[in-house]
Amino acid sequence: MAVADALRALALRPKAELHLHLEGAVRPATLVRLARRAASPLFPDLAAVRARGRPGSLAGFLSLYRDVCRLLREPDDFALLARDLTARLRRGRIVYAEVYVSPAVVERVGFPWPAVRDVVERVFAAHERAGHGRIRVLLDAVRHFGPDAAHRVLDLQSLHPWPRAVGFGLGGDELAVPARDFVSVYRRLAGLGLAPVVHAGETGGPDSVAEALRWLRPRRIAHGVGAAADPSLVRRLARSGVALDVCLTSNAATGTHPLAGHPVLRLLRSGVAVTLSTDDPGLFGTTLLGEYRLLARLGATERELTGILRAGFRAALSPAGRHQPPDSARTLS
Ligand SMILES: [Zn+2]
Repeated sequence: MAVADALRALALRPKAELHLHLEGAVRPATLVRLARRAASPLFPDLAAVRARGRPGSLAGFLSLYRDVCRLLREPDDFALLARDLTARLRRGRIVYAEVYVSPAVVERVGFPWPAVRDVVERVFAAHERAGHGRIRVLLDAVRHFGPDAAHRVLDLQSLHPWPRAVGFGLGGDELAVPARDFVSVYRRLAGLGLAPVVHAGETGGPDSVAEALRWLRPRRIAHGVGAAADPSLVRRLARSGVALDVCLTSNAATGTHPLAGHPVLRLLRSGVAVTLSTDDPGLFGTTLLGEYRLLARLGATERELTGILRAGFRAALSPAGRHQPPDSARTLS
């Protein structure tokens, strides 16, 4: 089968996505609406959202992300984000997703976490009840908020357990605080039934990935592509089976790893487990199928594309995601 045929087939196949953030899945039209409601000049129209979706640096992206959060005025606004996200999953035939939700950000915006959690839970539960697929949550702490704020995320999960949460990870600026400072946080995960994941190797290089592996022992790494510069680390990753949840458009938009010379295929061909995701599809203007198309443009074979699709299910933290459905899955609206 030619790669073009493989991509057409992929559009119809049930897929898994393991690295996307709730706030980043917002539809540009929702952002414009929220900005109008707040009488904010931040996102006057769709073109403004598109322009900001190419920030050119991680700092630029984090500022965009803060601006999105600034427009949220009540816990119910998170239902808009969750509905945008589930609509995206349905359209993309993504039948299993692990979604980063950030209690630290919710509290910083000024909302009680249990209220927001309940709002998001209702939307995710309705998506599942309608038979569109499964969603699991990765509780997200922000690396540059520091270890105390990360402990606070776990305190919230102890106080108000969210059964849908299956993992815990660090996002944000990976260079701001070293991985070893979070050892005591990650030690608590097993007791809470949360699997460890971490963002690393996005702005950071091999050292950052090696430190994350050494101190936090993640099951998967979000991005991780910075590891490619060190062949011995790549071999170690391949042996470990730790999957990298790679997001090509995101890397290009933040300028961390431009598409020209992107190491994803080198990593894959060295035996590293690679999955493909969108990270913040609403802000970056991409879809999961779009990411597969980009990978094909970089030179992935049909076999590699379908291998990555399978890897998405294999690397799921929840058993609910590990069963790859047959291709003849029902047509999703
Ligand atoms: Zn991410």
